[in-house]
Amino acid sequence: MKKSGAGLALVLVVAAAVAIGYLVGRTGDSAVNAQDVSPTEARERDVYVPNTEDLAPDEMRVIACGTGMPTTRAAQAAACFLVELGNGDKFLFDLGSGSAERISSLQIPYDYLDKIFLSHLHGDHFGALGELYIGGSLMGRHVPLRIWGPSGAAPELGTAYAVQKMEEMYTWDVAGRLGMADVRGIAVEVTEFDYTGVNQVVYDENGVVIRSWPAIHAIDGPVSFSLEWNDLKFVFGGDTYPNKWFIEYARDADLAIHECFIAAPDIVAKLGFTPEAALLVGTQIHTAPEAFGKVMSEIRPRMAIAYHFFKDWDTTGDILTRIQKTYDGPLSLAEDFMVWNVTKDDLRVRMALVEERTWSPPLASPAAVPSMADREAMSEKLGVEIGYTDFITDGKWNVDDVLIPIYEEAGQAVGRTFAYPDPTQPND
Ligand SMILES: [Zn+2]
Ligand SMILES: [Zn+2]
Repeated sequence: MKKSGAGLALVLVVAAAVAIGYLVGRTGDSAVNAQDVSPTEARERDVYVPNTEDLAPDEMRVIACGTGMPTTRAAQAAACFLVELGNGDKFLFDLGSGSAERISSLQIPYDYLDKIFLSHLHGDHFGALGELYIGGSLMGRHVPLRIWGPSGAAPELGTAYAVQKMEEMYTWDVAGRLGMADVRGIAVEVTEFDYTGVNQVVYDENGVVIRSWPAIHAIDGPVSFSLEWNDLKFVFGGDTYPNKWFIEYARDADLAIHECFIAAPDIVAKLGFTPEAALLVGTQIHTAPEAFGKVMSEIRPRMAIAYHFFKDWDTTGDILTRIQKTYDGPLSLAEDFMVWNVTKDDLRVRMALVEERTWSPPLASPAAVPSMADREAMSEKLGVEIGYTDFITDGKWNVDDVLIPIYEEAGQAVGRTFAYPDPTQPND
């Protein structure tokens, strides 16, 4: 096998990292520092607990909020990566099914989660969009959701069409919230860019530049992204067959995320595909582990990140073995809540320790009192009265005797009077 100078350098870096690992490892020097371990004092954690660590001005933190596949499972959401920058900006790359729950566990104010970049329009890459559109607003986003995504070969195959239809799908949902909640966040702003653009700038604000280039997956339309800020480079590859643009524009990334599908035998054994379909999907529509390794050997990132496979005790070994046939550099086999802290001098990989029973995170901007004007505007647009008809109101079964005391209790608690609604009138 031919060894290039760069390849040799990589081997030396890995060897140095291994040496450092031994030097700081607990087993290596436990005899020396055993007396330093206090039976009562707290020790430094080796996990990331959200909202307990400052992000340094020059630091990037990336959190996997979805690393799985189109087939849903509780253990892994589908594609979603959160990028947090030391300048305060945050970006979501893809928003696959199930990722909204992971995002909620991070307890980040939703005003800060308003920028989403979509690699393509498969449900496992944007299936949670509706949850951030509605749920994000109810949990404190008071600004519109900004969505960037590719065009397609026809207008109906583009991001703007998909988002417009999502808004239409939620017509009843939104109508049913007008006048009852602060709905300023139930709004979207779509920027659809040309999917054929090669290393084109699709975002340039506040020192952050995001570029896109085409990916090869299923049909025309998918793309991959790079984000550059403060001399750090993050690359997010959506689904793709290995492609020349990724090789060229992902080169020298600090973090290079690229899909890596489960090995073909497991596609047959676990997904029930025929061998023909497994070979097609696992090697031609997606990137096989051996091909993932070949891509990473070529672009040589500080950290290669593989996702888009179910990471189980009986699948991970085969994926790793196959990747290592073609790549021997730094590697993260991603799973949900894996965290990467990156500066020019350091790159740390940990898992997040998160809460599942979360409520709304703190508000980053004050909530507004719901306005009936919102409902009236929609009533006018739809040409109907939004609310209850007399037929429905007549169906109310009287529980005033137990509800009126609740109003009195609230009034006593906060020192003002809350008028009990007239049960014969529509809810308002
Ligand atoms: Zn896809
Ligand atoms: Zn996918």
